[in-house]
Parts: sequence; structure tokens; C-alpha cells
Amino acid sequence: MPILSSLHHLFNADTCNTYLPTLRWKEHPLPCPRCPSHTVGPWGAYHYRPGWQRYWGHGCRRPFHDLTHPLLAQSKRAVGHWLLATFLLCLACSSRRIAREVGVPISTSYRWCWWLRNAALCYELERQLAGPVEADELYHTAGQKGQAQQGGKKALGHRPRGRRKKREPGRGHYEQDRPAIIAWVSRQGAVVIHATRDCTVQTVQKAAEIAVRAGSRLSTDSASSYRAVKGYVHEDVNHTRKEYARGDVHENRAECLFSLLKPYLRVFRGVSKTNLPGYVGFFQFLRNVRQHNAFEQAELILQVALDPVIASRVKKGEFVTCFDHFDLLQTARN
Ligand SMILES: [Zn+2]
Repeated sequence: MPILSSLHHLFNADTCNTYLPTLRWKEHPLPCPRCPSHTVGPWGAYHYRPGWQRYWGHGCRRPFHDLTHPLLAQSKRAVGHWLLATFLLCLACSSRRIAREVGVPISTSYRWCWWLRNAALCYELERQLAGPVEADELYHTAGQKGQAQQGGKKALGHRPRGRRKKREPGRGHYEQDRPAIIAWVSRQGAVVIHATRDCTVQTVQKAAEIAVRAGSRLSTDSASSYRAVKGYVHEDVNHTRKEYARGDVHENRAECLFSLLKPYLRVFRGVSKTNLPGYVGFFQFLRNVRQHNAFEQAELILQVALDPVIASRVKKGEFVTCFDHFDLLQTARN
């Protein structure tokens, strides 16, 4: 038997508890968690929480502490569990793996993973690329994994599917459980990845308008959807004629991104198409902060998770919804 069963047993509870307040007040003082007022001040300490700072909100005239209303509030688990879970999520572990390493039930770890992915996505909502941008698409098999509403043995309303879904011939489409993933990769480093229903001219045009600043240079393969895109300086290489690069016209970075995205998604052993935008969005976050190590990435996520306003939106899953590009054309029409 090992002496320690989990890594977080080595975490010092006091260090974790003092780490969170420093993180919360690091960049800018956050408003009172109950009202938008910024007039808050220290107000003594807690007898039952040694080392914790208590604050007074002058707007609503109520006390609060560092864990009033952020994502971690009212969690039965110690802060160390959350730190380790966020760290493992940034190392691209599945929720089952995280459950085992942290020692929480799978349902808990699944919920945490989605909350934390949602929190990470709030960094990515406004991202738009500039400079020379490469684009490519991939069709990823994504079906109806785990779609019973309350879990358990409920009627799914469709045939249960095996995790390795058989691929149908031809191009993918959302209805055929093979939605498209379009990657936009700036040569300056940033990436935007969209999970879309298909890869038609209209979809690519809308996705390009969201992802890439108008007038930028666009390098793609010779697919007709990209050729028809308006508002960009477009150059393409013809893969059918075995042309992969012509001077600095190539899409090797976009293909490289897919070579990283595929093994990332494989860890989850089949992804539901409802959850695909969330997974893809989180991968985009990881790529865009790739100069940091996993703990620094986790710190970025925890920092926004401590903001009471963001935390309440995270629990409703709002950021993943903003990231859902399956209804790109419908939203554009409205
Ligand atoms: Zn207040």
C-alpha cells in the first residue's frame, strides 16, 4: 500500500486557503458579491475560519468573505481538491480520470469539469484573429453520447450508440453525427476553433466574419467553400495537385492544430455533439495560453471562477452556449 493515496494529501490546507484570497484580489478589487457596489472594506476575522479575512459591503451593509458566491462556494470539498482538479483539467484529463485522482464521485468531477471549462471560455468569447490566417476543416464523429436527461436507465429516444461510431462515406454533417470543425490559425500565434453544422459557403463566411478581422490574408486549401469567402485576401494551395506550400502560402499550422486536437478529443472516448463546442472551446483556450504551464493555466481559470458575477453565469453554462456555433446561420439571420 502507498503511504499517500492522493496528491492533494500533500497540500497544506492553510496555504490553499490563503492562496485563494490573494488570487481573488490580485488584479482588481472585485465588487461586493451581493450588489454591484465597489465600496468594501476589511471587517475583522472569523473565529471558526482561522486565517480568513472578513469584509463589509457598504452598499448592502452585509459582511462577506473570500468564498461568498464564487464557483467554489458551498462546496463540501476542500480547496485543495479544486486546485488539483483544475490542474488535471488543464493537462487534458477526462472527468473519470480526475474523479479517480482527486477522490470524488464521477458525477461531481463531471460537474466541476463543465463549470471550469465554462469559466475558461470567458477568456475566449471576444477573440478575433488578425494578420495572415490559415484555415482548414475537419469532420469529427460526434453522436448522442449520454443524452438521457437525468442519467440512469431512461429511454433515450434513439438507439444507444457504440462509442466508436461507424463513419458514413462522404463529407460530414451535423445530422449525420459528423459535424465540421473549422480551425482558424493566425501566424501570430492565436487560434479560433469553431464546431459548425457543415462546411458550406454560407457557414464558412459567417464563421470567418466571427473569427477573422475583415481584410486579413487567408491561406486555405482549394475547397470551394473557402474560395467563395468575401472580404478577405484569399490564397490557396491545391492538395489534389500535391501542392502543399507555395512560398508562404500554406495551411500547415491549421493541419498541425488538428493533429493536436484529434488526440485531445480521443481521451474522452467519443464526444456528444451537444458537448463538442465546449470541448473544442476549451482546447482553443489551452492553445491560446500554451506559453504558460498547466498550473498557470489553472490559475487563470480559478481567477475568473472566483468572480461572483462570472461564477453565476458559469453555473448556468452560459459561456458554452455563447460558444455553440451549430446554429451559426440561424443566429445570423435573426
Ligand atoms: Zn453589497
